[in-house]
Amino acid sequence: MPGHKRVLLAAPRGYCAGVDRAVIAVEKALERFGAPVYVRKQIVHNIHVVSELEERGAIFVDEVDEVPEGAHVVFSAHGVSPAVVNAAADRHLQAIDATCPLVTKVHREAVRFARDDFEILLIGHEWHEEVEGTAGEAPDHVTVVNSPDEAATVEVRDPSKVVWLSQTTLSVDETMETVRRLRERFPNLQDPPSDDICYATQNRQVAIKKVAKDADLVIVVGSANSSNSVRLVEVALEYGAKAAYRVDYADEIEQAWFDGVETVGVTSGASVPEVLVQQVLDDLRDAGFGDVEEVKTAEEDLMFSLPKELRQDAESRRGGRVSAERSTA
Ligand code: SF4
Repeated sequence: MPGHKRVLLAAPRGYCAGVDRAVIAVEKALERFGAPVYVRKQIVHNIHVVSELEERGAIFVDEVDEVPEGAHVVFSAHGVSPAVVNAAADRHLQAIDATCPLVTKVHREAVRFARDDFEILLIGHEWHEEVEGTAGEAPDHVTVVNSPDEAATVEVRDPSKVVWLSQTTLSVDETMETVRRLRERFPNLQDPPSDDICYATQNRQVAIKKVAKDADLVIVVGSANSSNSVRLVEVALEYGAKAAYRVDYADEIEQAWFDGVETVGVTSGASVPEVLVQQVLDDLRDAGFGDVEEVKTAEEDLMFSLPKELRQDAESRRGGRVSAERSTA
């Protein structure tokens, strides 16, 4: 209807099971052990979540050598390499592994294929913590492929024994394009046993694709270092949105974005609390976009149990050195 201002609100959006678990893990660690609790890297890539946890006593560090000997440290949802686990154990840190189980699954694939002497082409962004962690499981077997263009230049030792794996938060379409180009060069390229791009990343992309085709403007709530949030902006533009922007907070929205706009699409990355989306909807209502229609493309009910270090009361109470063994949840 011309002249009818509306919002198409993508669903699913926001928190995934892995982020929910990781944030609760820090909260529970603070409750159980008291502040401060150290966290290696941002627990999830969202500045609002990180600053709220800081206010409650979490201290975020880049590396475990910044954590006092024997203190509690939480590993972020993005996962860590065995080198980090060992460094934490060397400092007698009491490690709580909040690595998302779907990232742990990719780690296990890397270990298994390396053991079988495959060369692993890991599609992802080599500066991203998750890729560092996965590659660190088998550094002699992993080569990171950052983009479809790099598929043309990457070299392998034995083209008959190559497998691809990926970061969990990539664009599905772009990753498939990278795989297509890799397979042109390496016809025996083996696929991962199951999707590495996780259900939450895929579901959020499917939803924004449906919204984007009818949207003059798409607003993605999420932080700049959130891979899946940044991908949502790209996917929205690719699937027909006339403009798409990422914001951390509602107050970053610019009035000029609304020029000539009737339909605004809204979504949020997997590390974004719903309260931030509601603040965007409040601002949109004030700008005349009070009619909100949810566009739902999937139901999500996945939940993960807490890291085992927070489940095993008896072991936690025992104190002393706790193994930095990886989560198997
Ligand atoms: S985005 Fe996917 S892989 Fe990352 S924490 Fe969420 S569920 Fe896990």
